[in-house]
Amino acid sequence: MKFRFLGTGGAFDTDYGNSAAMVSFKEKSILLDCGFTVYPALRQHQLTRTIEYILLTHLHNDHTGSLANVLLHCHFFNKNCRPIILYPDDDFRSELYEFLRLQLQKPEEYAEFLPLSEMPGITAVDTFGQHAENYQSYAYIFEDEGNRVVFSGDLGQPEALFAHIRSLPPRPTCIYHDITFNEQNTAHTYYKKLIPLVGDYNLYGYHCDPTQNPEDNPFPLVYHQPNMMITSDSLQKQLSL
Ligand SMILES: [Zn+2]
Ligand SMILES: [Zn+2]
Repeated sequence: MKFRFLGTGGAFDTDYGNSAAMVSFKEKSILLDCGFTVYPALRQHQLTRTIEYILLTHLHNDHTGSLANVLLHCHFFNKNCRPIILYPDDDFRSELYEFLRLQLQKPEEYAEFLPLSEMPGITAVDTFGQHAENYQSYAYIFEDEGNRVVFSGDLGQPEALFAHIRSLPPRPTCIYHDITFNEQNTAHTYYKKLIPLVGDYNLYGYHCDPTQNPEDNPFPLVYHQPNMMITSDSLQKQLSL
């Protein structure tokens, strides 16, 4: 299993792209979130053709803003490319369908919809109200032989997610967690709040402006890990292998 981020910024950190990743999981290729900078990033790296599945943490614009573009692009320019949108439950499917219907009229012409339960190894953790008040969002847990990767999505109250992770059978676990360096920002997790929760898990922060990273932040940022980022260089290397 491999996560490669297309961007690691927060909603307003456009220099770093909206937080999103291409996930290779059990030989499938999943686009995880699709904010307004994701379509140009996918075009830049010639990756639209590789998208088999799309999974979304929530419907904020920095996570879904270019979803319709991506689907239209696949439909009109990529032969035999019809992404499958994985949805965690029926209510979220309805919201997502309505969101796309306003842009595409008939979303089912551009994408297939499949319950996430049909994709063994990925589970949704319902984080309703823990990012924004009365607002639906999800974290996702990916498990293959031996490994577990947790993707927090946007989360201001991380306690329930960590309680859930701790209730799972022990496994090497990597956590990608949204992080803020501003204590007043309650929509995302203030880095000091993560310190007592994280224990001996490996945690990497994302959804932030790396130039604001304080010296006493003990968590490495995804942005600083070249092997976790999609860059023209990393793709070049892969192609030449
Ligand atoms: Zn966000
Ligand atoms: Zn959000």
